[in-house]
Amino acid sequence: MLITEQKTINNYYQALLNRESSFVGIFYVGVKTTDVFCIATCRARKPKLENVEFYTTFKDALDNGYRPCKICKPTENANQAPEQVEKAIQDQIYKAADWSDAKARDHIDQSIRWR
Ligand SMILES: [Zn+2]
Repeated sequence: MLITEQKTINNYYQALLNRESSFVGIFYVGVKTTDVFCIATCRARKPKLENVEFYTTFKDALDNGYRPCKICKPTENANQAPEQVEKAIQDQIYKAADWSDAKARDHIDQSIRWR
């Protein structure tokens, strides 16, 4: 979910500037100028308030076109609720399964054609 409440945004932005580890997993910050998202403790240079968006899950940030930051690795280092992580991992597995099924089907079609 995108955070739209100004008070929460200000709180989170302050936590970002202070690299508050207690906010890791609470919010994910998308930087509009770089299309990268971070967790609170990221060592990268802090963006301006007008260039950031806060999300409650890293999946929201991914869905909105942000890439995980290479410095803080938000998808690996966040202490997210286990079911959210579980769900994100399952989505990835389903995507992979769809892909291999399609490939397998192509392969079968071709082998029939060549018979
Ligand atoms: Zn980062």
